[in-house]
Amino acid sequence: MIKKLLQRVFQSSKKPASPPVVKDARASGTGNAKRIPSKIHRIDRKLISHAAIKTTDGLQKAGFEAFIVGGAVRDLLLKKRPKDFDIATNATPEQVNRIFRRSRIIGRRFRLVHVMFGDETIEVSTFRGSHLGDEGDSKVADSGRILRDNVFGNQEEDAVRRDFTANALYYDPSSEEVLDFHNGVADIQAGILRMIGDPATRYREDPVRMLRGVRLSAKLGLKLDAATEKPISQLADLLHDVPPSRLFDEMLKLFLSGHALESASALRQHGLHHGLLPLLDVVLEQPMGERFVKIALKNTDDRVLAEKPVSPGFLFATLLWHEVLLAWKKFEKQGQRPIPALHMAMDEVSDIQSEKMAIHKRFSITMKEIWGLQPRFEQRSGKRPYSLLENPRYRAAYDFLLLRCESGELPEELGQWWTAFALADGEQRLTMLQPDTTPKKRRRRRSPSKPSANAGD
Ligand code: ATP
Ligand code: MG
Repeated sequence: MIKKLLQRVFQSSKKPASPPVVKDARASGTGNAKRIPSKIHRIDRKLISHAAIKTTDGLQKAGFEAFIVGGAVRDLLLKKRPKDFDIATNATPEQVNRIFRRSRIIGRRFRLVHVMFGDETIEVSTFRGSHLGDEGDSKVADSGRILRDNVFGNQEEDAVRRDFTANALYYDPSSEEVLDFHNGVADIQAGILRMIGDPATRYREDPVRMLRGVRLSAKLGLKLDAATEKPISQLADLLHDVPPSRLFDEMLKLFLSGHALESASALRQHGLHHGLLPLLDVVLEQPMGERFVKIALKNTDDRVLAEKPVSPGFLFATLLWHEVLLAWKKFEKQGQRPIPALHMAMDEVSDIQSEKMAIHKRFSITMKEIWGLQPRFEQRSGKRPYSLLENPRYRAAYDFLLLRCESGELPEELGQWWTAFALADGEQRLTMLQPDTTPKKRRRRRSPSKPSANAGD
């Protein structure tokens, strides 16, 4: 009762949206668009989320323009179910926020609105304009990279600042028309991923577009158009200027796309991997490392395609493992004992990596836990195997061990032993344990009157 009352009060406190000001065709900026009817584009409405349709309906009923835009329309045209839906509108974030009770404005630079329906969130953005105008909030670096770009515009301007023609399509669920400003529908039908405008200029504005091109082409089976592909190798170094956290987000998308293996080899082919995973450069050049990374990426792709969960921490642990191995050996040669040497290697590798591409802390913690448990799989006597089985990271570390065995780094027998040990009952486990060959530690005396000589070790 009280909840309902509060909801009503809350609802009525949202002011009704004021009608949009812009209405003439030129100002609304749809003049140059092709309007493609459903009998041509044949989008299957069953693939569209109800929440997305409710959002465009809500906006349109309030008198605004609203379209499903970007990757979702592209995926619908390719007969794939989009994983998320973005909406573009001429309503401002405040106007959108007033229309939907369960919505909130997010972002300081790029102000967007998240509209919530059940557990689904629809992202609504206001049409954005060109950064080249002198109004509003925009800034360009000397290299041509756009540092800030937050100017409202009309729909045509919104389309031209998107990256690929296939990503600049607008679908209106009520008229069922696709608005196409840059021949994106024809490009998709021809299987081509083409940059809007001059590719080199667009990569300079935002070097991440090079990675997006490689990723989307592998994921969607679209071929990069020749002029779109050509400048990539020459401009690869521009990725050095991109903030490490943004690179991480993009690389995570790439590795979790279900086409990681293909994408990684495309990155190499275009010389894009140098700035990203500096350590991966080296790994891919060693036969054993390359084999390990390939098996790991194939394994990730299989899991993504089977809709099984994938752990980014595990993934990055595999990508950097052979570098950890090298550094581990180096520290041992310098006289460190094995376990401290491993931990020094782990820190060194993750520090070098984070200068280029910052792996989020929550993932790097998992990554280090997986690495840190590896030496414990070699201990198969006494109580140690039992306590390893109890470790919360055992499963991930065991899966990692199996990859090491499969790649030839460790004998297959070790992985098989752990598989069998985990399944065995108490009696069987006892017969599997190996004799304890570790040298006996000198017992410390506990008597307070005779403090151990080793205390403080
Ligand atoms: P995915 O299927 O991986 O989500 P996507 O194309 O939808 O691919 P998003 O990051 O969700 O990727 O971006 C949504 C839309 O925003 C894109 O389709 C594109 O129109 C635009 N966009 C995203 N990143 C850029 C960029 N770097 N430059 C220009 N436009 C971009
Ligand atoms: Mg998307």
